[in-house]
Amino acid sequence: MPRDDIRKLQYRLLKTLVYRLYSFSPFYHDRMRAAGVHPDDIRTLGDIRRLPFMVKNDLRDNYPDRIFVAGQEDLVRYHVSSGTTGKPTVVGYTQNDLNNWTASLARGLSSCGLGRGDVLQVSYGYGLFTGGLGLHYGAERIGTTVLPTSVGNTERQIELMQDLHTTAIACTPSYLLHIGEVAEKMGISIKNDTNLRIGILGAEPWSETMKTRIEEWLGIKAYNIYGTSELSGPMFCECTEQKGFHVWADLAYVEILDPGSGEQLPPGEQGEMVITMLQKEALPMIRFRIGDITSYDDEVCGCGRTHPRVHRISGRVDDMLIIRGINVFPSQIEYALMAIPEVGQHFMIEVDRKGALDDMLVKVEVRKEAFSDKITDLMAIRKNVEHRLRNTLNVAVNVELVDPGSLPRFEGKAKRVIDRRKI
Ligand code: ADP
Ligand code: ZN
Repeated sequence: MPRDDIRKLQYRLLKTLVYRLYSFSPFYHDRMRAAGVHPDDIRTLGDIRRLPFMVKNDLRDNYPDRIFVAGQEDLVRYHVSSGTTGKPTVVGYTQNDLNNWTASLARGLSSCGLGRGDVLQVSYGYGLFTGGLGLHYGAERIGTTVLPTSVGNTERQIELMQDLHTTAIACTPSYLLHIGEVAEKMGISIKNDTNLRIGILGAEPWSETMKTRIEEWLGIKAYNIYGTSELSGPMFCECTEQKGFHVWADLAYVEILDPGSGEQLPPGEQGEMVITMLQKEALPMIRFRIGDITSYDDEVCGCGRTHPRVHRISGRVDDMLIIRGINVFPSQIEYALMAIPEVGQHFMIEVDRKGALDDMLVKVEVRKEAFSDKITDLMAIRKNVEHRLRNTLNVAVNVELVDPGSLPRFEGKAKRVIDRRKI
């Protein structure tokens, strides 16, 4: 659809949404009244700026379902968020909500080249978490064969991957790293001994350098998929251009805002992503401040799609560490580390307060090949890692090199930061 037509469609959907919620949702009615805005005031798409924000705490404060607009008789599914950053939130779906969610995953999977004849191993958790069931129905919709392994039981996953000729896997990037390592221990190379060619990876931040490593090591294309349970679940996926995920414009309107002033930022500038779901029924989301930081891109994509593209998430507002007054995102650390050849795939960040000063220690696994008899080599590697981290983060960091395989591995979302200042 041409961009102008998209904007007209978005305006019509927004206008309908605002009238519906003003009339039928006490929560949104009160919010709009308090912000001094009436649906009649929304006369252009840009007027969305007049509408109040919504945050995750609005869902927590109204736990479990007090913001729902649909009655229970119209709900066909519940999911419950993983609670990475606090009390979990409950999400409800009408049949239309499920249809739109499935359609967005069907689009996402086909835009990265999946279809009939493919076997997608869904190694996201099935159950309350949205990842497993979301991808499951999206893949079935486009005729891809689903292998619903869910998380865990990694050796069995690898056997099935070989026996059933899995061509694509959907899981967190950290779980795929674990799968790759376990396979090597079993004497299997994912690159040479399986048919795997695509990874649909997300649910946690991962850097561009990590993507390159995964692609080279496992011999696959690694596509970024993004979503949160409040938007429905995983929703938006990269296309074969791999230049950011497409945000389906008929379902969602995306804004990137300056976190301080709340003003909309132009393409290319990093800010806080705010999403309005234009067609959700049971749990509508107007201007939801997700807390993820990124930038967007307004060019028509090389794949031909006119849906806007959002770049890789560089971090989550709540993940930001303040080290001696400097803002540090774990993903910056990952980015710097993965560019150093001697460094393995795994690291942990430990933050402490020593006296009055914040102290950050990054434990880094080195690759087996980097071990030599000479202690001086390891010292040189450590110096190099410290140097690169200091250059990236603008703050001094202590680095400890540890044995390959000694740091924790993750099946779902990775937890790589231990902040003892908060304990
Ligand atoms: P919770 O907030 O409880 O973890 P979700 O399971 O819905 O709830 O997780 C959504 C969050 O996961 C997002 O807000 C984002 O921070 C993170 N996330 C999901 N996909 C990606 C991705 N591809 N890149 C970076 N972060 C992601
Ligand atoms: Zn594209």
